Order: sequence, then C-alpha cells, then structure tokens
Amino acid sequence: MIRVKIPDTHPRAESLRVRERLIEALEAGVLTESGLIAHGRGECFDYLIGEKTQSFALRAEKAAVATLLLAEHPVISVNGNAAALCAVELIELSSLLDAKLELNLFYRSARREKAISKLFRKLGFEGLLGNRTQRASIRGLDGGRAKVSPKGLLIADTVMLAIEDGDRTLSLSRLGKNVIAIDLNPLSRTASAASITIVDNILRAIPRMIELAKDLRYRSTWELREILESYDNSKNLREAIGFIRTRLNSVSQNGSPTPNTLEREIELFRG
Ligand code: ATP
Repeated sequence: MIRVKIPDTHPRAESLRVRERLIEALEAGVLTESGLIAHGRGECFDYLIGEKTQSFALRAEKAAVATLLLAEHPVISVNGNAAALCAVELIELSSLLDAKLELNLFYRSARREKAISKLFRKLGFEGLLGNRTQRASIRGLDGGRAKVSPKGLLIADTVMLAIEDGDRTLSLSRLGKNVIAIDLNPLSRTASAASITIVDNILRAIPRMIELAKDLRYRSTWELREILESYDNSKNLREAIGFIRTRLNSVSQNGSPTPNTLEREIELFRG
C-alpha cells in the first residue's frame, strides 16, 4: 500500500489521518472493506453537524454515562471501526464505568477476532469478551451476528454500541435491553431504535464520556436518575435533525460555509 505523508497544513489533515489509521486497521485484519464504507457515511453526517460535539450530543452523552453507571450489567460492544478508532479510550471508559467490553462483529472470522483481541492485549487489556470459545445466541438474528458472550451481551441490561447496523440494535432493544448508540446519522435505523442516541463522532464522544464518567461516578443514584428523567431521546434526535436543516437552509441562502461562517451558524442555531 502506498503511503502519503499528510502535511500538517492540509485543511483536512486530521480527517485524512483518521482515514490512514483505518486503512492500517484494514491491513491488520481489524477492519473489513465495508467498515471503510461505513466510515465514509459517517464523515458525510459529521460534515453536516459541523464536525463538533453539538449540545444535543453532549446531552445524550451525559444521559448515556448516567445510564451505564446505574446499570447492573453494562456492556460496551466493540466492532472493527470502534477498535480501530479508539481502543485505548474504550478501555479507559469501561474501567471508569465498570462495564465489560465485548467483541461483536458483523463480518466475523477467526482472523478478525484474533486481530482485534491482539490489539486489545497489546494495550494491556485481557478481558475482551465475545471470542469463539464463549458464545451464546440471541433471538432475532441469524448466523455469526447472533453470537454473544454469556458473561456479557447475553445478560447485559444496558449495551452501548457504535457504528452499528440497525438489525442488531433493533434485536437488542427488542430483548428489553437499554441500548445506547453512537451514530453520526440521526436518520439511521440504529438512531431511532436506541433508547439514547448520541449523534456524534465516536472519536469525540468517547473522550467526552470519559470526562463525564470521572465526574458522574461520584454522584448519588438519585442524581443520576434525575439526569435520566430530564432526558428525552426523541426530542434530542429531532433537535439533531433540526440542527442539520437549519445549517442546510443557511447554506442554501448564503452559500457554502467557510470555517468562520460555520461557527456563526452554529452560534445562531444555539440562539
Ligand atoms: P442502519 O442499519 O442503522 O440504518 P446503516 O445501514 O447506515 O445503518 P452501517 O452502514 O453499518 O449501517 O452503519 C454505520 C453507521 O455508523 C452509519 O450510520 C454512519 O453514519 C455511522 N458512523 C460511521 N463512522 C462513524 C463514527 N466515526 N462515529 C459515529 N458514527 C459513525
């Protein structure tokens, strides 16, 4: 694979570096080609929300951390994209929340399982659930996608997943689990099936949730429940879609946003 050096001065240097990381993950067997396509879809929606954590995302991130702290069996589901983009941060978040990490792959193969487990072990984490030897099945899905760990997703009351397809999100929520989804597309089936939808890039969402967890883990159960009671996922999703509509209206009237006008539009939206 030919590698290009990305100049720091390139206006989209950060985004190009993320793409390079994903290509490396593909070569290492962590990601599949379809993971690259999913990332492209995500980038498009990230553009639409201004590539920043907006207030609707922050609200959902706070509610998600409160839910995970209140859960009896919280599990964070890890797929190839999540592993390639933020394995270190997922390990830290799981430890702060006392949540399990479980490998959950759409395209499952022994090679991928091995590559992702190796990545986590290299980072000093030995407890990744969901390999071939510890499998149960969940209803509503077929084949490899139905396989879960009896110590993790099978008994979980709360599951956080990211960059996931709608089928599995729907199956997990039909099983009565609290599903938290990180998905840049507020229109996806995953976004509407989840109980808490975080419309943000996983690269920003997980570090933000780490900071929130450092604070919220010392709050009382009562305070955490209050955060949840004041959170309304449908309203929040409508706000995310409204935000995109406002931005597109503004661009259609005033032309494409430059970085400065983009800031102004976001301020205008916030009122
Ligand atoms: P659904 O089945 O839920 O309607 P889909 O068919 O789009 O979704 P995929 O293509 O598997 O399912 O989903 C990938 C999802 O992950 C897309 O909605 C995409 O916007 C989102 N996504 C991609 N990259 C990121 C990222 N870095 N952070 C958050 N979300 C992302």
